[in-house]
Order: sequence, then structure tokens, then C-alpha cells
Amino acid sequence: MTDGFSARPGALDVVEDIFDPYADRLREECGVFGVFGHPEAAALTALGLHALQHRGQEAAGIVSYDGDRFHAEKRLGLVGDHFSDGKIIARLPGRSAIGHNRYSTTGETILRNVQPLFAELDAGGLAVAHNGNLTNAMTLRRELIRAGAICQSTSDTEVILHLVAHSRRPRIIDRFVNALREIEGAYALVALSTKKLVGARDPLGIRPLILGELDGCHILTSETCALDIIGAKYVRDIENGEVVIISEDGVQSLRPFPPQPMRPCVFEFVYFARPDSVVQGQSVYEVRKRMGMELARESCPDADVIVPIPDSGVPAAIGFSRESGIPFELGIIRNHYVGRTFIQPTQGVRELGVRMKHSANRSQVEGKRVVLVDDSLVRGTTSLKIVKMMRDAGAKEVHFRLACPPIMHSDFYGIDTPERNKLLAATHTLEQMREFIGADSLAFLSVDGLYRAMGYEARDAAHPQFSDHCFTGDYPTALTDYSGETPRQLSLIAEAS
Ligand code: AMP
Repeated sequence: MTDGFSARPGALDVVEDIFDPYADRLREECGVFGVFGHPEAAALTALGLHALQHRGQEAAGIVSYDGDRFHAEKRLGLVGDHFSDGKIIARLPGRSAIGHNRYSTTGETILRNVQPLFAELDAGGLAVAHNGNLTNAMTLRRELIRAGAICQSTSDTEVILHLVAHSRRPRIIDRFVNALREIEGAYALVALSTKKLVGARDPLGIRPLILGELDGCHILTSETCALDIIGAKYVRDIENGEVVIISEDGVQSLRPFPPQPMRPCVFEFVYFARPDSVVQGQSVYEVRKRMGMELARESCPDADVIVPIPDSGVPAAIGFSRESGIPFELGIIRNHYVGRTFIQPTQGVRELGVRMKHSANRSQVEGKRVVLVDDSLVRGTTSLKIVKMMRDAGAKEVHFRLACPPIMHSDFYGIDTPERNKLLAATHTLEQMREFIGADSLAFLSVDGLYRAMGYEARDAAHPQFSDHCFTGDYPTALTDYSGETPRQLSLIAEAS
């Protein structure tokens, strides 16, 4: 979910300036979890959110239903800092619950934006948690406000609740489906009504959603790692455009949209998903290792040691080392008591964060020709610091390899990539990037190499198998809020910027 309506240093500057009256925007990647009919619903949800912590570290919330009333607890900070407290779980009684981890990278996180969001409707209460970003939420929100809606939060997820409230259909599930017909963009939703747990995945399946089972009870989660933590069984991925309704009667599936080929977000494999998760039937860890192998085939310098940037570069570096035959060593040690680099909202603090997070393991790099491997390069902050750190530690040569293609385009679907003019690859040639980070050589995995790592011969340009707009500029949906232009036109505007 995204706070689309408060501060907005995001997205394509040129497009915003021309078309968008809302000057600022936050973008987020989140984790969602839901369980139906289990006596420990809230505790399971807290554990699930803990396993999904990498998807959002700013805030977490759980809403439960006890057969009579809904209960909500929301906190800023990490799941373990709040929801491991038995007293908080005790305030969330009931056999059904949903939860949400929020990831926001810029601006303040205010408690009223923390999900799940809840609304009391004439047909009963409804709580919603959202991973993704709606690309027409601002347009819809303006219309809703003009029609008299009063918004409590600045979140695009609230738009969904208003659309449900405005629908004239008698049953909540029909209202929910009506709301889905109006929204565009990326979403994996879990919703809880008095009788049902509902899951929905956008028509292209950009964001992931998984169905699991524990003790005969059904679970919805962003990733399989949240099933593993509670010993639940994986049942299946929710399909693109599918709505699942979980109730006392079991699991029912609706397909309210015209069928479309699936286009999940490739960035789940590149960076977001936890390596022990299975995405689209494939081990994320194995795919990342294959990305490293492909990269080694495409561009392997003469070197003495392969060093991963921990933790995100580790599987690709293992693959790179295996394919190249160059030994793998932990030439950088990560301090695990600081969060992901991107969490700090300002560039200055972010830079400090990088230094706090990584140290050179001098014994493994001194006097050596080092190949650094990371999953991706965004602003170049991490790479710049780490190349210098390697040189300061006595490395003879420092080569940098990235296990994904250059990130040239902003994301509008809930992944935190900054505005285009802050993406190093959008503003620099390969040689300029090499010079900027100070490496002896620099190379990125090719787009086709990325697809090969995911088990395809190549990217199918006519029908791309994934949403890979960060690399290709090929946006898979309309981006109404951003321009009113088609994605293709938007991409051209981006090119011109
Ligand atoms: P940068 O330092 O700006 O080039 O960012 C690159 C680092 O951030 C890499 O080590 C990635 O693992 C990580 N990264 C890539 N994409 C994201 C994202 N959307 N959110 C947070 N971190 C990211």
C-alpha cells in the first residue's frame, strides 16, 4: 500500500510536475497475513508478520474478530518489539485475524496510516490489509471526496474501503469485488469480515499471495516463509485476478476479471522475497544463485576472490563463484543489528547507515583482486561505500557485478525505487557508473540472463512473462494517477527526461 496523498518525493519527476497536483508521495512494499478459524489466530498472525518483517519494518498491525467484535492493535516499529508481548496478543481475541507489515522509505509514518484499515459498514465491519500500490487511487480519491467521503488516512488502501462502502450490492463480498473492478495497479489484499477471510490478487498477479493450511485452517500470506515459521502447509499460489473467500464452508474461488496472462513482479526474485521463500513455484534462493551463475557466464573478470555484499548478494555470489571457479569468501561482515539500508529516510542518514551495516574483513581481501557481487544497484550509495571500503582494506583490484540489469525506470507498484533522476543507471552510462562507484570494472546481468535464471530461454518481448518495468520501462498497467497517459507514452516521457 502507498500513502499517496501526503509527502511525495517519488516517481517520475517530469510526469508528476506536468500532470500531478499532489506534489509528494511515499512508496512502499508490504507484507500481509491472514488466518481463519484458528484459536490462536492473533498469535499466528504475529509470527507470520515476524517472518515477513523484511517486507516492511516501519509499522505493523493486526485486526482480529471474536464472533462479536473486531479488535485492532497497531504499532510503529518491528513486529517483535510489540507483538511478542502476550498482553497485546490477549487484546486480540478471536479465531480470525489479519495483519500487515508496513514499509515506508520517506516521510513520517503516522499511526492512522498503519494497516489493517477498518470500516464499520451497514453490512458489518470490514478490515483490509494491502501489499502493492494502486495507480489510480488519487483519481478515485478525488472523486470520492467530491462525492462526500471523509478520509481518515492518507493511504490508497482507504480508497478500497470507501469503494466497498459506496457499492449498492447487499453482500459484502459483492461490494468488495465491485471495488476491485474500479482499482488499477498492483495489489495483494487480505480482508476480514464478520464471516469471511478474503484474499485478492490483481489481474496480472504483480504482487504475490499464497494460500496455506494449518490444523485444517486456511491462511493467506505474502510469502511461504510465513507458513514455515508456524509449521503450516503450502497449498497453492493465489492466481492473478483471483479472489478467494475463506469461510466455515471452506475455500471458494471467484474470477471477476477477464483472464489475462500472469505478469508477477520480477523484483520479488531479485531482492524482495526472503531467499527461503518459494515464489511462483521456484526457490528464491536457487533463482538468485542462477542469476549469479548467468552473470559469471556473461562477465567474469580475472580475480582471486568472490565477495558477496551481505545479505542480499550472498546467493548470487555463491552462484558466481560456483560457475567461475573463483573461491567465495566473506570479505564483508554485516552487522545484523541495523535494518535495511533504505529504511533511513534521508540520503545523509542512509549513507551513515551503510557504514554502520558493513565492515571489511581485511584478512580475505588484502592484496587480492576482488569481485563484489550484489543483487541490485539503485542510487549507488552502497556500491560507492563498499568499493572504497575494499580499497581501504588493501584490495588490489575491485570489480563490481550486479545480479540484475540496470534499474532504469521508477516503479509504481509498491516497490521502493526512487524517482528516476535518483536512479544511477537512469542518469549515467555504464562507464560513468563505474567511475562514480570507483570500481575497476562494472557489469550487470542482462535482461535475458535474468529470464534464463528464472527458467526461460529469454524475455518474450511480445508477451513478457514478468513485470520488469524497472529494467525495461514496459509498464504493465495504466498509470492513471501519474499522467493519464498510456504506460508506453509514459515510458517515452521518462526516456525524454
Ligand atoms: P543503493 O545503495 O541505492 O544502490 O541500493 C542498493 C542496495 O539496496 C542493494 O544492496 C540492494 O540489496 C538494496 N535494494 C535494492 N532495491 C531495494 C528496495 N526497493 N528497497 C530497499 N533496498 C533495496
